[in-house]
Amino acid sequence: DLRSSDDYKTVNVQVVLRCRPLSEDEIKTRTPLVISCDEIKQEVTAIQNTGNKQKIDKTFVFDKVFAPTSQQKDLYDNVVARVVNEVLEGYSWTIFAYGQTGTGKTYTMEGEARKEKNGQLHKNAGVIPRAVQQIFDILENQKADYTMKVTFLELYNEEITDLLAPEEGSNFLNDKPKKPLILMEDGKGAVFVRGLEEEIVCSADEIYAILHKGSAKKHTADTLLNKQSNRSHSIFSITVQIKESSSDGSELIRCGKLNLVDLAGSENILRSGAREERAREAGEINKSLLTLGRVINALAENSVHKRLSALLIMRFVLKVSRTDQRSVKSLTDNAFPQKLFRIIVGGNNVVTLSVSF
Ligand code: ADP
Ligand code: MG
Repeated sequence: DLRSSDDYKTVNVQVVLRCRPLSEDEIKTRTPLVISCDEIKQEVTAIQNTGNKQKIDKTFVFDKVFAPTSQQKDLYDNVVARVVNEVLEGYSWTIFAYGQTGTGKTYTMEGEARKEKNGQLHKNAGVIPRAVQQIFDILENQKADYTMKVTFLELYNEEITDLLAPEEGSNFLNDKPKKPLILMEDGKGAVFVRGLEEEIVCSADEIYAILHKGSAKKHTADTLLNKQSNRSHSIFSITVQIKESSSDGSELIRCGKLNLVDLAGSENILRSGAREERAREAGEINKSLLTLGRVINALAENSVHKRLSALLIMRFVLKVSRTDQRSVKSLTDNAFPQKLFRIIVGGNNVVTLSVSF
């Protein structure tokens, strides 16, 4: 039982399920609900609708369950707020949104990217703007000496697009050849993207401009590459450095990182009769999701791998086709996806599962 707060810190991975409400169209067409959420028992039950009959299918237990009525604030306050507190203590965390296209991943991570007229967070603001706001609120309140930097990238077919880099000029003859963004290791096991634009954020309000810039760029990239965002992963990273003077007068810098990942749609495109090109793409996506699943399993089931934590997961997400499958396999022999619903253990990482059946 991972529900008591003491245990929360000792586990590697948490899996939280959020079920979105039916859309207006689904209500109009009387689409039946296919799962029922029990927030108290933290479980969801799949329901089979055959004719007028409803049959209860399987039940899955999660670390937390958020029913369709849940609000952005509920999820944030109950799941993300304490993660952000730990980031400010100097830990690294990663939150993934996983699920089929249309299940609410982007809504949960980004949500409404504007402020209310009274300057307050919008009621439908997602995890990213809320996290930035919380970091500012705490550090400003402590009158801390800090810097906050963010990066925002998209990964599509193993290629990285910097969502914060300036747009390419329209006259391609004048354009300098674009340097591809490359994933590098710093020798200490940390992974970073060389050449990625880092933006220093000086007020919470700036985050909205950054989110808008990111989605505008996503949109252009979609058109240029003839793709859809649901086939790419996007990663918003926040790094906070806090300067502190210790009692002997020396200076310390505490550094925490939060990765907020909106994964590609988990649907199996092959099965829905995609054309070849799409099928190759689906292979890449599934490979990265598959590897991610294995790594999370390893993190969850083997305490030796606890320290592999967030960056390792990032690395596998980004480097999948170049990953030595055997080394991944040696981390875990567990199959995916049967076990996906079972990775309900763990602490350095929260996994947000957003699933529709
Ligand atoms: P995904 O990113 O998983 O493909 P989206 O976040 O784009 O899915 O959500 C699909 C649609 O459902 C959007 O129109 C979004 O506004 C709406 N939606 C998702 N989750 C919720 C929610 N919890 N409450 C209200 N609307 C939601
Ligand atoms: Mg999305």
